[in-house]
Amino acid sequence: MTQPLNALFPDWPNEALDILSTIHVGQLPTAEVRALCDLLNINVGQLQRQLLPLAESYTIAPLSQFIVGVVAMGSKHDASGYPNLYLGANIEFTDVGMNYTIHAEQSVTAIVSAHGDKISSLALNATPCGMCRQLLHEHKTITHLPLSISDTEVIELSELLPRAFSPEDLNKSAYQPPYGLSLNRLSDDELLATAFRFSYAPYSEHPVACVLEMASGKQYPGFSLESAAYNPGLSALSVALILAHFSGEPLSNRMSEVAFKRLTVMVKGQSATESVGYLEATLLWQQIAPEGELVTVSAPD
Ligand SMILES: [Zn+2]
Repeated sequence: MTQPLNALFPDWPNEALDILSTIHVGQLPTAEVRALCDLLNINVGQLQRQLLPLAESYTIAPLSQFIVGVVAMGSKHDASGYPNLYLGANIEFTDVGMNYTIHAEQSVTAIVSAHGDKISSLALNATPCGMCRQLLHEHKTITHLPLSISDTEVIELSELLPRAFSPEDLNKSAYQPPYGLSLNRLSDDELLATAFRFSYAPYSEHPVACVLEMASGKQYPGFSLESAAYNPGLSALSVALILAHFSGEPLSNRMSEVAFKRLTVMVKGQSATESVGYLEATLLWQQIAPEGELVTVSAPD
């Protein structure tokens, strides 16, 4: 985020801006959602849309110059019915392959998953691309996923993606995106093994988790976030980069200039280091941190 909150929300009182400043790894928790709705005298759906400029402020788009922000409503609620809200934005890099570009819907899916929640509705400032429609289809909570694309237009995802592809088409209906756990506020030594339990790999069946350590010592978990169609998926390292970005790490479009220290990768099986999941994470690591340390550990049985 590069713009101060009072520039993004010039009409909001300071008390509301103070609440916004508590956002943690892209999540505005239920208590803060309720407090903001009360303070601004708006409902949750209105707040979700009003937060789009904050989501957009996380965009890094030197290639496309196309700024995309999304705000997801989670499926978990507090006793009063208030959900968590989550931010997402597109992130582009200029010193690695363009296939590492992260779309806003991908980043919000990673953030919602890391907090152990699922997406129940989405506010966007642009219609999702075909790739993201597939990813959202696999990570939504219910049959229908309402997409609020403007103040007046709400479209069901199924209208944009009829006859969607699913893990069932690969005879892998047992695969379900992780739900219920949270990677929020774990101690560093719990991160890797817990992140491994989040891995969703219906396409490759090569689940991978990682912990990305910055030169500052701060650590961020990552996990495979695949799709049954593969291409909308994210490698474990891409997920860790998203969580770092939405935690306020000074990432930029030139990743080779960011001070990374170590990547610890957890894989399963004898030939795990030859798996595509492992390669997905480590090839990007070699590009962004050629001097960085790479550690590989085996997942527990
Ligand atoms: Zn997209």
